Amino acid sequence: MALYWKDVNGRNWPVCACLKAWLPVYQDALLAAGVIKRGLDVWQTIGGAPASGGTHVSGQCVDTAQTSTKAIRIARDMGADASWFRPENWDNSGGGAHAHLNLRGCPHGSASADRQYTSVHQGVDHGKNGLANGAPDPGPKPLSKRTWAQGITYAEEHLMALSDADIDKIAKRVWEYGIASTYDDANKGKKYKAQTHLASNNKFGHEILDKLEGEVEPPKA
Ligand SMILES: [Zn+2]
Ligand SMILES: [Zn+2]
Repeated sequence: MALYWKDVNGRNWPVCACLKAWLPVYQDALLAAGVIKRGLDVWQTIGGAPASGGTHVSGQCVDTAQTSTKAIRIARDMGADASWFRPENWDNSGGGAHAHLNLRGCPHGSASADRQYTSVHQGVDHGKNGLANGAPDPGPKPLSKRTWAQGITYAEEHLMALSDADIDKIAKRVWEYGIASTYDDANKGKKYKAQTHLASNNKFGHEILDKLEGEVEPPKA
């Protein structure tokens, strides 16, 4: 059965199971990093674009419009080391600028997709750019060496973790909620505002402290 990933515009892109799991997390990571505001702009998933030389025929690879170094860095950190910004005319045939991302450890890709990792002449693991010209890898280094599955875990634990500011915001909201709430005193059949409760506990606490202070002998001179 064919698998699809739906982008934010509702368009369905044919994908392998790895891309289906990875793309939404990559999109979330780009949102968290502020690289995109709404959604990932996908140009090609499984497809037969002649310029791609068969790299995209069965999965593992995706082309996007998010071409910044930051976007490529996040892709590499998320287990797609064979990811590159391909500038305008990258193929010397007028090919458009895009980012080509290739998931490490996906078993669904073509031989040419695998060569972008393993080939001594083209592979990113050999410091190359993944093209037949075998030029040096121009992408951000170091490589993560993660698989796409490890990349999802990495993204969830590191790229989308809550910031200190977020945690402060949540703590403040919880505190405000606690102060505003009321509680029922079943013994007295009364409802108290939480402020009253805190204030009376505070008074009680001070009484205990005063009493303790009276009982503790001051150190002998
Ligand atoms: Zn796959
Ligand atoms: Zn591509």
